[in-house]
Amino acid sequence: MSDIVIYKTFGEMPWTPQYVEGINKAVCLGCGRCVKLCGQECLGIESFEDDEGTERYVAKIVNKDQCIGCQACGRVCVRKAYTFKPKSA
Ligand code: SF4
Ligand code: SF4
Repeated sequence: MSDIVIYKTFGEMPWTPQYVEGINKAVCLGCGRCVKLCGQECLGIESFEDDEGTERYVAKIVNKDQCIGCQACGRVCVRKAYTFKPKSA
C-alpha cells in the first residue's frame, strides 16, 4: 500500500489535503456556491433534462488537476454533496 501525501501548514503542522473526488448529483441543487468559492477553478455547472423534461443544473468537476485539497467546496455545500480523498504518494 502506498503512503498518503502529507504537507505542512505555515506553522509546520502536518496537513493532509483531501482532494475533490465526487459530487452526488442526486442531491445537488445546482446553486453554484461551490463553483464561485473554488479559487482553483476546478468546478463548473452543467445542465440536463430530468425525466419530466425540466431543465436542471448540477455542479461538476471540470479540472481536478488544479485541486489543492482544501475541502472548501464541501464545507459551503448545504446538501453535503461532496466526497474527498487524500492522494497516494
Ligand atoms: S454547493 Fe452543493 S448544492 Fe450547490 S451547486 Fe455545489 S454541490 Fe450543488
Ligand atoms: S477541494 Fe478546494 S481546490 Fe479542490 S475543488 Fe474543492 S474548493 Fe476547489
